[in-house]
Amino acid sequence: MNAQDDCIFCKIVRGEVPAQKVFEDDDVLAFLDIKPVAPVHVLLIPKKHIASLAQVDKTDAPLLGKMLALAPTLATAQGADDGFRIIVNAGRVGMQEVPHLHIHIIGGPHPLGPMLAR
Ligand code: 5GP
Ligand code: ZN
Repeated sequence: MNAQDDCIFCKIVRGEVPAQKVFEDDDVLAFLDIKPVAPVHVLLIPKKHIASLAQVDKTDAPLLGKMLALAPTLATAQGADDGFRIIVNAGRVGMQEVPHLHIHIIGGPHPLGPMLAR
C-alpha cells in the first residue's frame, strides 16, 4: 500500500472525503480546516503526496514558492485582509498531525497573539 492510499488529504484531493474547497488548480488545493483556530483558517496543500516540509528537496522549490505566493490571495479572499499567519508544522517536534504537507493560513479580524505561548 502506498502512503497516499490511506492519506486523509489525498482522499480530499481525490474527492473521497468531503471538504469545503476554496481554491484549486492542477497543483494545489485549499480548503477550510475542520477545526479552525481563528475566523480564517485555510489549509493549502500540494495535490501530490509530500509527507512533510521535513522531507522536501530542491525539486519541490517551485511548488513551495507557488504555495507561499498564493497565501495572501487566499487569506484576503477569506476575509483576512489586514494580515495573517502562516504555520507549517513538520515532523515529530513540529507536532505535525496529518502526514501530507500543508500550510495553515490563519487570520483575524483580531490579532492572533504571540506566535507561541511563552
Ligand atoms: P497539523 O497538526 O498536521 O499541522 O494540522 C492538521 C490540520 O488538519 C488540523 O488543523 C486539523 O484540524 C485539520 N484536519 C484534520 N483532518 C481534517 C479533515 O478531514 N478535513 C479538514 N478540513 N481538516 C482536517
Ligand atoms: Zn497525502
